[in-house]
Amino acid sequence: MVLEKQQQHLVHKILPVPAPDASQLLIKVMACGICRTDLHIIDGDLTSPKLPLIPGHEIVGKVTGIGKHVTGYALNDIVGIPWVGHTCGKCKFCKAGKENLCDNALFTGYTIDGGFAEYTVADARFCFPLSLEQSKPGAAPLLCAGLIGYRSYRMINKDARNIGIYGFGAAAHILTQIAVAQGKSIYAFTREGDKASQAFALKMGACWAAGSDAVAPLKLDAAIIFAAAGELIPKALRDVDKAGEVICGGIHMSPIPSFSYDILWQERCVRSVANLTRDDGLSFFKTIDKIPVHTETEIFELRQANHAIEKLRSGRINGAAVLVMD
Ligand SMILES: [Zn+2]
Ligand SMILES: [Zn+2]
Repeated sequence: MVLEKQQQHLVHKILPVPAPDASQLLIKVMACGICRTDLHIIDGDLTSPKLPLIPGHEIVGKVTGIGKHVTGYALNDIVGIPWVGHTCGKCKFCKAGKENLCDNALFTGYTIDGGFAEYTVADARFCFPLSLEQSKPGAAPLLCAGLIGYRSYRMINKDARNIGIYGFGAAAHILTQIAVAQGKSIYAFTREGDKASQAFALKMGACWAAGSDAVAPLKLDAAIIFAAAGELIPKALRDVDKAGEVICGGIHMSPIPSFSYDILWQERCVRSVANLTRDDGLSFFKTIDKIPVHTETEIFELRQANHAIEKLRSGRINGAAVLVMD
């Protein structure tokens, strides 16, 4: 399914199977999740895609070809392909272990072709080996929603116990299960009056759920925001205790209203989270190997991509939308 021009529907095309170069794997795609970032690419909010483009960066597939310099993979291995598809290894960020901020990064399904297709190629160094258990379509959302949630979670102090999550969709429902298994208490904030999302949060293990206008029953140690509403930043700052961290989890937010310095005082902090490092991925998949994570998905055939995108855009998907190829 090809994006030929932004702000247009994807077009179904028959293309040749790509050939892997020396550093790449050829992958038969089994499933690919649809992420909000895909909507931003299609809608033109993200302005520099490769065109024409095959979108999709939550890819689960099977290795069917191996470039001659690739080591560590065998045919039929199950792999996951995330958003970060290549980094330069040479810029100051790569050298500082912050390859998520690489000046020359390439992004799957944005500046290189992604997974809304039967086959794709990917730089083997940026693929993650998955277990057979993770070869199910339900694993696809782990590759972006799961990873960005996990990177956001890694940003907060390990001793934080009571954590607020603002916006309860794909990322939040995965992260809640991990955090609860690690002994954290999750306080979920949803859109005001969104009883369905509040019930969903409680079902995933949150100890408390309410609209974003509500006040948590105690001062939170940290907050992670997955919703795009800038006004949640001052709200979360008011909800956290001294030294509380407010993490903006990989989303582009609307303008932040000005706020009194009082709510930042006492070493509270606000920070954004961008992309992921390979270390995030390795740590994430090692962690969830011991914690069975259930993902709530709605499955669509590849050719239904435009329909699935429309449903996601209008907020009619509970959990995550996933395209399957067989
Ligand atoms: Zn770099
Ligand atoms: Zn994504």
